[in-house]
Amino acid sequence: MTKIYDSHAHLNFADYDADREEVIRRAFAAGTKFIINIGSGMGMKGNDDAIRIANEHENIYATVGLHPHEASLFNDQTFETIAGLADEPRVIAIGEVGLDYHYMHSPKEDQIRAFEAFIALARTKRLPLVIHSRDANRESMGMLRHGHAGDVAGVIHSFGGDMEQAHQALDLGFYISINGIVTFKNAQSLRDAVAALPVERLVLETDCPFLSPVPFRGKRNEPAYTAQVLSAIAGIKHIEEERLADILLDNARTAFGIGVEQTTVYRLDNKLYLNITNRCTNVCVFCPKFRNDYAVRDYHLKLFKREPTYDEIIDAVRRFPGYEEVVFVGFGEPTRRLEVLVAVARWLKEHGVKTVRLDTDGLGNLVYGRDITAELGSVVDAVSVSLNAPDAQTYSRLCNNPYGEASYEAVLNFIRLAKTRFREVTATMVDLPNIDVRATQAVADGLGVRFRVRPYYRESLRYKKERE
Ligand code: SF4
Ligand SMILES: [Zn+2]
Repeated sequence: MTKIYDSHAHLNFADYDADREEVIRRAFAAGTKFIINIGSGMGMKGNDDAIRIANEHENIYATVGLHPHEASLFNDQTFETIAGLADEPRVIAIGEVGLDYHYMHSPKEDQIRAFEAFIALARTKRLPLVIHSRDANRESMGMLRHGHAGDVAGVIHSFGGDMEQAHQALDLGFYISINGIVTFKNAQSLRDAVAALPVERLVLETDCPFLSPVPFRGKRNEPAYTAQVLSAIAGIKHIEEERLADILLDNARTAFGIGVEQTTVYRLDNKLYLNITNRCTNVCVFCPKFRNDYAVRDYHLKLFKREPTYDEIIDAVRRFPGYEEVVFVGFGEPTRRLEVLVAVARWLKEHGVKTVRLDTDGLGNLVYGRDITAELGSVVDAVSVSLNAPDAQTYSRLCNNPYGEASYEAVLNFIRLAKTRFREVTATMVDLPNIDVRATQAVADGLGVRFRVRPYYRESLRYKKERE
């Protein structure tokens, strides 16, 4: 049976009151792997209903939020309630949220205020976003960019064919969600867009009860009909349906973290790597995580929902025998979890680990307003600091942190202090085009530390090549 799924269903709507269980049964009988029930769109009750339906069915998940139509319901209280619901175990995304300037059911200002808050909430909760944008693509993409939504990414729901929007979304790591519209006679421009988009960034949805695909157009939609959407995409992309189904299923799992094993510890050669956070002070222009690319070999380092606790990290470490070095890495800055970092490092030293290494942005002292190398010095043996650039201006352009050009001097100072605390200090940079390697090395030499150039992962830009 072809594998399908519905990444966007409104099964809590009254349209299903008479036969909801029957619709769900039909979906799973047709090969549906999972359904994501969208909580927003029916006031605060919709969020509760979505979670209840998810709790009652093994392969149904929920999202929570406020639809742009109901943005006028947004206030401190509704926001706090939704923030609380986001912690429910079956909630896997924030949405649908965004801007709808077509119907304008809520005032623009309310929509913007709510959307901004939900982008921030998604980042705090480490949940992907489900975006609704109508007649407001430029504005909504701008808000996603400014709100650093690429930290968590998500999907652009009910994509309408705007390629400018699609490119911006792909650059932020978002997936593009396609529904029954793609089967409509008058939707040639959407089919052209689908033909041009990278297949590894597309996901399936119905938006049921709306937008039934041909031949059900005009009738009530339901999750089983993603099969028609899948067929239509297969025809447009000239890909065999079964193979496409596998790719699209994989995409949705990666986008929402469904069935993706969260990697806390992994091992390469005789080193153990600890992935304790995805949070960063920097927003580096070259970072693959902002294209939702968290892969290191076969490991997936995106942390959905939450960061591993001290106990979970230690448990995970215990499962690996025989290693010489432990490195704190990941697509995040380990010192953002300073307490956990120090505690884990102490445990490692107490358990005889020869070398504990920290890969850091070197901004910790600036962030905490104190010298954190003192705390780290007794439990960390070696540090690799991302120097990244030969001067403050280049550094701030590449790393985009809130401290601006002053942050470069902070990194240099961190390295100076680190030299007095750790056995080994290495300054690193990424091998980017147009960044002066020799000049950067000269800075490292001047500080009297080792220097290493890290490879730039061009392969993460794969989809960009396809669009050229
Ligand atoms: S500090 Fe590292 S993980 Fe964070 S944005 Fe920069 S490259 Fe990415
Ligand atoms: Zn919807």
